[in-house]
Amino acid sequence: MTSPAVHSDTLDLIGNTPLVLLKGPSEAAGCEIWGKCEFANPGASVKDRAALWIVRDAMARGELKTGGTVVEGTAGNTGIGIALVANALGFKTVIVMPDNQSKEKMDTLRALGAELVTVPPTKFADPNHFVHTSRRIAEENENAIWANQFDNVANRRAHIEGTAPEIWSQLDGRLDGFTCAVGTGGTLAGVGMGLKAQDEKIRIALTDPHGAALYNYYANGELEGEGSSVAEGIGQGRITANLEGAPIDTQFRISDVEGLDWVAQLLREEGLCLGLSSGINVAGAVALGRQLVADGRKDARVATILCDTGFRYLSTLYNAEWLAAKDLPVFDWLGSS
Ligand code: PMP
Repeated sequence: MTSPAVHSDTLDLIGNTPLVLLKGPSEAAGCEIWGKCEFANPGASVKDRAALWIVRDAMARGELKTGGTVVEGTAGNTGIGIALVANALGFKTVIVMPDNQSKEKMDTLRALGAELVTVPPTKFADPNHFVHTSRRIAEENENAIWANQFDNVANRRAHIEGTAPEIWSQLDGRLDGFTCAVGTGGTLAGVGMGLKAQDEKIRIALTDPHGAALYNYYANGELEGEGSSVAEGIGQGRITANLEGAPIDTQFRISDVEGLDWVAQLLREEGLCLGLSSGINVAGAVALGRQLVADGRKDARVATILCDTGFRYLSTLYNAEWLAAKDLPVFDWLGSS
């Protein structure tokens, strides 16, 4: 038995997350489906990694100085990661968030000491979009930096140098496929690049929610979305700097209902409480596993990302009224009061 890790710096708690074999998804795919437990990060999401790399990069370049402030526009998880990292390093945090994201994420950001600015959800072209608002706040404040997670490639470096080699060594260098959805694209592009560097034959797949434009982009070159999704943190309509050059071999489009099905099954049968992007990722991993098996790779192994904890969505995904109001299936154990 190996001993649990010992660290002398709390920031070393970010990354090196466990990998777990998902029984139901493996059975459904006919091959091994592995989940990278990113909810085990201190901020309970995959975005702690990008936060740490972005802040360290800004410090190394001399842009972020003592007493400085990190400003970011985020669906919430990156903000939570930045707030924790900034606290540990003595910086302040200002977070701009669309006001349709979960209350739990907003409450968490306030609890961590971040200054929270909310804006109405708008299209990226709108100058008041949360990303542009966060850039302006950073520009207007002295000694503040804009983290710019979408186009700052320190984000994907966290995955090229961290997540990908971790998965590779956790699986003893035997992996056939990897897939996840895209918010900034840091995870998909970074893990994809890092894994291809180990073995060019690993099939890298985009898993896109409805409403996002990337499925069409990788299928036929057109940035066009159809439908919509309630999943927070994913669904991209442009090629961010982090996505540029991402080695995508194939793509799947997954509905909220399919994603929620896996969220429910993983909770009831495997004791994992996850957010919807994780459910959508698992649905994509099952589709990729089936594709590899159909292509003759019967003993295929696929890995995906379990992005964040479901505790962040108690008022939404795990709330019967909210689900019913969105016309989504209500988990049967929640009842309908
Ligand atoms: N899932 C959740 C819950 C997220 O918050 C994010 C980040 N916005 C992602 C998935 C996507 O990760 P990335 O930004 O690396 O594409």
